Amino acid sequence: MEVDAVIGADGANSRVAKAIDAGDYEYAIAFQERIKIPDDKMVYYENLAEMYVGDDVSPDFYGWVFPKCDHVAVGTGTVTHKGDIKKFQLATRNRANDKILGGKIIRVEAHPIPEHPRPRRLLGRVALVGDAAGYVTKCSGEGIYFAAKSGRMCAEAIVEGSEWGKRMVDESDLRNYLEKWDKTYWPTYKVLDVLQKVFYRSNPAREAFVEMCADEYVQKMTFDSYLYKKVVPGNPLDDLKLAVNTIGSLVRANALKKEMKKVGV
Ligand SMILES: Cc1cc2nc3c(=O)[nH]c(=O)nc-3n(C[C@H](O)[C@H](O)[C@H](O)COP(=O)(O)OP(=O)(O)OC[C@H]3O[C@@H](n4cnc5c(N)ncnc54)[C@H](O)[C@@H]3O)c2cc1C
Repeated sequence: MEVDAVIGADGANSRVAKAIDAGDYEYAIAFQERIKIPDDKMVYYENLAEMYVGDDVSPDFYGWVFPKCDHVAVGTGTVTHKGDIKKFQLATRNRANDKILGGKIIRVEAHPIPEHPRPRRLLGRVALVGDAAGYVTKCSGEGIYFAAKSGRMCAEAIVEGSEWGKRMVDESDLRNYLEKWDKTYWPTYKVLDVLQKVFYRSNPAREAFVEMCADEYVQKMTFDSYLYKKVVPGNPLDDLKLAVNTIGSLVRANALKKEMKKVGV
């Protein structure tokens, strides 16, 4: 089949990526069970999603219970301990405990989640978008928005580069999409990368994260950043206060870690 350009939107195991020798990325394995729980228990999840953190549910990610219309998805993920995923899944189910008691597993899913863009996302008139390119954000594992957005940006670059279909596109036209993407989202990926490295590394660090999340300014910044998918600029005085509080939380967390070590936890 003859085409002008090929856009690889074929997910984490992309064959298009293999065809252009795009290289591998670090990936998490996500495991999820769809569980049909009794109607009276489903009421609890009507307006609520749960996120669990701790070494039992995942050493480097989080466990979740997400409502999906008439059932819940219970799952967890990890990059560093993929072989233990079933153990983490059991722990996640145990955390949800009686809230999902009496539930029936209707589907089991496991899938790689890219943790980093691929070393190559473009070759000639072939470009990658979404999971194929490796656009899931760290910390949250959010990928749907970024898959749709990158597909749109790439399509817009082709329409513009081809002057609405009047000329053949070349690599530089597709590169415009990559440049726009990196300019718009690179800071978001970087901030979430640092957040994950600092706060997801141990139970005390996670405690520090939870402590920080009680702050209204943190809640607003996080909510705005998730909503607008960009690192939202804050106000300098509040940012300074946040930096001091963060250091305080981390110092307390480290002290807690030392104490826990002493008592052998
Ligand atoms: C368990 C789990 C939970 C998740 N939860 C969330 C969440 O709550 N929120 C969120 O934002 N993200 C979540 N994600 C991530 C999100 O699902 C992905 O980032 C997103 O689906 C990527 O979209 P995509 O279109 O790039 O790839 P995909 O959704 O994987 O779509 C790729 C498509 O290409 C097709 N395909 C593949 N190969 C070929 C081929 N050779 N020929 C033809 N077609 C082919 C596939 O069948 C598939 O339909 C989750 C991921 C997992 C694994």
